Amino acid sequence: MDYVIEPQPRPSVAVKGTDHRFPVRRIFCVGRNYAEHTREMGGDPDREPPFFFSKPADAVVASGSDIPFPKATNDLHHEMELVIAIGKQADDISAAQAEDHVFGYAAGVDLTRRDLQQLAKDRRRPWDSGKAFDQSAPCGMITPAGDAGDIANARISLTVNGEARQSARISDLIWSVSDVISFLSQEFILMPGDLIYTGTPAGVGPLISGDDISGHIDGLETVQFRLI
Ligand code: MN
Repeated sequence: MDYVIEPQPRPSVAVKGTDHRFPVRRIFCVGRNYAEHTREMGGDPDREPPFFFSKPADAVVASGSDIPFPKATNDLHHEMELVIAIGKQADDISAAQAEDHVFGYAAGVDLTRRDLQQLAKDRRRPWDSGKAFDQSAPCGMITPAGDAGDIANARISLTVNGEARQSARISDLIWSVSDVISFLSQEFILMPGDLIYTGTPAGVGPLISGDDISGHIDGLETVQFRLI
């Protein structure tokens, strides 16, 4: 295939135990999936259906990166999240079928320009400026599902410069991994290469230039980056 301009390289994420990489097709994110975080954002955590937003595939950034402090914000927030890597097409599937469609899991951070997201909420506009900016999706190495241990009961935590900011259990999710995949597959045909950021627990907060961020989920590789 000849293109009129040079195509950009396909975004991808390293996979534990192999030199082969996971090609990223789309990035879906779940809003408000932990009750305590829903409350800290002024919402009601009663079980309304989950809602989704997305980031471009090339928002993904490898763990270990130095990330320039994002432009156009004075209130950049960390949101530590479990990331699902889809390995098999999922179209209208049940929660019971969902695990068959998972390639693996990773620790990720949904970086958020909170000021721009709040402006969008206030003006009833889309969230793209707050969520879908360049390098907004740091993602650790993907661990294949069979090697990831008991993800449903893992601890999830994030530190900034070594200081604890977020700590919870994956079992605190309002909508489980299987629920999220099932719901998403009712609205979209999930394809191999899709990543799903499953929502953040309480404790989100601001980041500044120079901060060193480290996120951990039991059984998975750490996601770490520095803001420069
Ligand atoms: Mn999030």
